[in-house]
Amino acid sequence: MVTHRPNIVIAISIVLASAILAIAVWLLAQMREDALRRAQDSVFNVSLLVERDVSRNLEIYDLSLRAVIEGLKQPGVLDLKPAIRQMVLFDGSVSAKDMGSVLVLDEAGNIRFDSRASPPRQVNLADRDYFKVQRDSPDVGLYVSHPFIPRATTKEVSIALSRRISRPDGSFGGVVVGTMRLTYFRRLFDGMKLGPSGSMALMLTDGTMLMRRPYDPKIIGINLTGTANYSRFTQQPSGDFFGTAAIDGVERWYAFRHIDMYPLILDVALSTHDIYIEWRRRAWIIGSLIAALDVTIIALAVLFSQQMSRRLAAENELRELARTDGLTGLNNRRSFQERVDEDWRRAQRNAWPLSMLLIDVDSFKGFNDLYGHSAGDDALIDVARRIAQNVRRPGDMAARYGGEEFAVLLPDTDEAAAVHIAERIRAAVQGLQRRHVASSHHVLTVSIGVATARDQLIQNSRALINAADGALYDAKDAGRNRVMCYRATTVHVAAREAGEASTAPDTEVRNAG
Ligand code: GH3
Ligand code: MG
Ligand code: MG
Repeated sequence: MVTHRPNIVIAISIVLASAILAIAVWLLAQMREDALRRAQDSVFNVSLLVERDVSRNLEIYDLSLRAVIEGLKQPGVLDLKPAIRQMVLFDGSVSAKDMGSVLVLDEAGNIRFDSRASPPRQVNLADRDYFKVQRDSPDVGLYVSHPFIPRATTKEVSIALSRRISRPDGSFGGVVVGTMRLTYFRRLFDGMKLGPSGSMALMLTDGTMLMRRPYDPKIIGINLTGTANYSRFTQQPSGDFFGTAAIDGVERWYAFRHIDMYPLILDVALSTHDIYIEWRRRAWIIGSLIAALDVTIIALAVLFSQQMSRRLAAENELRELARTDGLTGLNNRRSFQERVDEDWRRAQRNAWPLSMLLIDVDSFKGFNDLYGHSAGDDALIDVARRIAQNVRRPGDMAARYGGEEFAVLLPDTDEAAAVHIAERIRAAVQGLQRRHVASSHHVLTVSIGVATARDQLIQNSRALINAADGALYDAKDAGRNRVMCYRATTVHVAAREAGEASTAPDTEVRNAG
């Protein structure tokens, strides 16, 4: 089946290639999803880790501030010697690397006690937000300040945590404040693995940037209110989404969370580019391999089908050659024989008449002798052409039956129609006006025997051929260049034997000469 339809091979190969492509696309889509899921997990984990670290440190720091406030309430503490008072007040204070000093400010903003200096430095801090907020609103609790550069201690950007000191009557008695260098967050951020374009940021809930990775000192303190990402951060306690940073325009996958009970928001983000970079590399490799494979499959199929087409064409040509007569181009005797048997059966099945013409060139031996064998061949070609020109109905078949004999098969054609065609052929050959001085008709002519199978007299295809041959014999006998029909031979022969050969009553004779 396949061997007869080269295009099916190509079609199959295209289906196969498409299937492979579909599987590859599906796999790559899965891999892409996996890459995103891994990134989401990692961003989530980092944000959780950092949030815990930050909130734990703030909590510890806050506990220190509370301890100072408690200490100040203890009777007699203020009367202690400075060195001992220093120990009592600030004993619980954090002295970690990034924690600055813990200060106690009076209601005017002057430093009363300083965890790092005794006597305290003479500085007024009444203009700081951590002071003003506590002074102006009694119920703030723990306040986290905007970033600033401390005046009293190191000049590194810090934030401060402050708590209000309330007098027994509830009035403002100053604040306890602890500073915290922002490098703490920077170091914390830098310790996380986030890919070359990953980012992390810690901001106050009012949108003030405290620290960002990648670090840029100019960004510290800017306000993010109004940016798309910040708006999303404020909508929920935690979440994740694809967003583009206002600061650098890079698209990233964000995970954000509000830090415990502090007014802080943390976000951790991996850039889309980083998330998919490994996937993209693999997709290229797999994609190229699959494309190469598909192209190879289709190319091989095309080659194979071309090869097949060529072979089929060659086979057809051979088959055609095997059926054709080399000199005249008509069908040869073998294919004619096959068709006779076929048409015989069909005619029997359908009760159609089947007619046959046997055509023989008159005195052709003499033509050859006179004009040469090559001229004889030309004459045969001409005769064949005349026959073909007069046998044109589909289903009709003309063949070269032997040396200078031709046969024509006319399915579904009765005797009258067959005689008509035969007569046309005879006239056409005569019309060639090919000189033949040895013939009694002076030009090349043919004799034609016609037989039609339509009753029980002709029993099989062989008998049909014999009948046509008999009629041809009669035509020769009657003087050539004529068409004669087969009549029941018995009658015919009997008539001839009785000396009435040329006037057999049921033999039709047409003489164009
Ligand atoms: P008639 O049929 O009229 O009784 O006489 P005829 O001379 O045709 O009789 P016959 O059948 O004996 O001669 C046929 C001749 O046709 C014999 C052969 O020389 C010639 N012939 C057969 N095949 C070819 C061919 O392919 N080419 C040529 N040039 N001549 C051929
Ligand atoms: Mg002959
Ligand atoms: Mg002949």
